[in-house]
Amino acid sequence: MRILVTGGAGFIGSHLIDRLMADGHEVICLDNFYTGHKRNILKWFDHPYFEMIRHDITEPIRLEVDQIYHLACPASPVHYQYNPIKTVKTNVMGTLNMLGLAKRLKARFLLASTSEVYGDPEVHPQTEDYRGSVNPIGIRSCYDEGKRIAETLAFDYYRENKVDIRVARIFNTYGPRMLENDGRVVSNFIVQALRGNPLTVYGEGQQTRSFCYVSDLVSGLIKLMNGDYIGPVNLGNPDEYTILELAQAVQNMVNPDAEIKFELLPSDDPRRRRPDITRAKTWLNWQPTIPLLEGLKLTIEDFRQRIDSNN
Ligand code: NAD
Ligand code: UDP
Ligand code: UDP
Repeated sequence: MRILVTGGAGFIGSHLIDRLMADGHEVICLDNFYTGHKRNILKWFDHPYFEMIRHDITEPIRLEVDQIYHLACPASPVHYQYNPIKTVKTNVMGTLNMLGLAKRLKARFLLASTSEVYGDPEVHPQTEDYRGSVNPIGIRSCYDEGKRIAETLAFDYYRENKVDIRVARIFNTYGPRMLENDGRVVSNFIVQALRGNPLTVYGEGQQTRSFCYVSDLVSGLIKLMNGDYIGPVNLGNPDEYTILELAQAVQNMVNPDAEIKFELLPSDDPRRRRPDITRAKTWLNWQPTIPLLEGLKLTIEDFRQRIDSNN
């Protein structure tokens, strides 16, 4: 199959491409390198089945493919809040263009949506039926509402134009290749601990998240794409930790002397998050296999190598 991955030079996209290439597919990676990097996909550059196109998805493009994994969008609060209007454009105009492409090609289209569509949830754990509690005018809205309209677009193209959609609601995912300056919590704590800096816990660290290792997530995306259910489907690891527990785990693994420093909690920060993955289990026969401590070990190793080679 010929497969398009938008955002393929990013964190999740590049791991997905590794898997698709290993499975013998032809892969086109579309990316404007906003938060993605050539180094993430460098090993495929000379491969005859791989193609890289530098392109901003807010502009139309014509290509010929069988499947589209639509991942292009900055995912870390620091990056998506840096230029919020651009984040909205990427989610609205970019998703519209990729759905227009899927419609013309009759290609299957998978949207990488997010647990952020649930906002600061009043239902715990979050099931796909829960409609969310999102602030439409806050600093996270460009991303949360952007992804909500991206889901709306996907379902309207499905109903109106019979586009063959799949919608994944991805929960916090971590692993090798996250950017050192990414701003997300796992990479921040690991980089801080490796550099001997204090770990910055926002608020009192009592807010919770559930962290999925990237290889598990990629398996879920591929199962969803090639299965019969359109979704939405939660993909994430249901093991829930407070942010303080995460900080202590990283501290223990990297540098027991590292200090923990408490900083101001950003506005609209969700207080708790954990996926109900009943749908993924029953529809896709999928569930995560890598526990947090094992995934952290692999991620720490990757960051250690990168940080050492920079010094
Ligand atoms: P990432 O920032 O590493 O990757 C996003 C990629 O999209 C980057 O390579 C970036 O350059 C590219 N991109 C951004 N805007 C673009 C544009 N206008 N045109 C072309 N390319 C563009 O983030 P990630 O963690 O790999 O996330 C991938 C997808 O998964 C995103 O859609 C994100 O919303 C979703 N997601 C991720 C998580 C997570 O925890 N990592 C959780 C929920 C949802
Ligand atoms: N589009 C694209 N590539 C294609 C087909 C469509 O980028 O191969 C874009 C198109 O330019 C439009 C969007 O996708 O901006 C939606 O396309 P659709 O055909 O649904 O709507 P229309 O073009 O009729 O507005
Ligand atoms: N967080 C933190 N310290 C950091 C970065 C993040 O305490 O250095 C917190 C943040 O306030 C949030 C959680 O960790 O409660 C997860 O943040 P992240 O940006 O990784 O993802 P999201 O909030 O989008 O789930």
